[in-house]
Parts: sequence; structure tokens; C-alpha cells
Amino acid sequence: MKQGIDPDDLTRPFWEAANAERLVIQYCVDCDQLQHPPGRTCHGCGSDDGLQWRQVSGRGRIYNYGVVHDCPVRLLRDDQPFNVAVITLDEDPGIQMYSHLPGTPVDEVPVGAPVEVVFEATANGQKVPEWRVATEEK
Ligand SMILES: [Zn+2]
Repeated sequence: MKQGIDPDDLTRPFWEAANAERLVIQYCVDCDQLQHPPGRTCHGCGSDDGLQWRQVSGRGRIYNYGVVHDCPVRLLRDDQPFNVAVITLDEDPGIQMYSHLPGTPVDEVPVGAPVEVVFEATANGQKVPEWRVATEEK
């Protein structure tokens, strides 16, 4: 069971795309950069009208990971310990996302391995992007 997610205006396009099983990342047309997490202005150049949402391939790599044994969020304690992996996107290794790596045993995370996005439904019907170790290079 995961926490409920209440999308606000800023991140709603991200969650709506997730429900359609698409991964979108905020993109600034003024300085040609992806940014995540989303902001109201570009983190790079400060533009507030150059931000768009761009669909990405949903492929990346495991940059690093940790194992959570003592989660401060009570709702998640039933599931611990769990992996928290840092994923970098193939489109831009500067973009990092976090994942519990469903299907990967705790503390057996293959750092550097390719991963692909999957979408998991949560209790309130919202799908959330997660990442799975890819079975082969693409
Ligand atoms: Zn910018």
C-alpha cells in the first residue's frame, strides 16, 4: 500500500501522463534542458513561459541506491526494508528519479544496469512511475 498522491496544478500533467502510462519530464525551450522535479520556473535560466512537458523514452540506468530500514512514513513501514534506487534518464543523466525497483530483491540492486519505466496503480487509482531492471540492452 502506498501513500495517496494528491496532484497539485504544477505536477498534474506528470500524473495524468502516468495514468496514460507515459513518462513526461518538464522541458525548457529557452535553454533546451529537461528538469525534474518540475518547477514553476526553469531551474537553469529562470524562464517562466518556456516550460513544456516532453515525453521521454522511459529508459535509464541505476546510478546508486540505498535500503530503507526505518522509514519515517508509518504507512510504508509494513513494506520495509525496501530499495530506494536513484535512476538517471537516458535522455539526460542529470535528471534523477527515485524508485523502489519492484521485482528486485532488497539490497541486490545491480548498480549501472539499464532500467525501464513501469506504471503501478496505487490505492486511489493514480498510477505512479516505477522502474524495473531491463532484461536486455535495447
Ligand atoms: Zn531554461
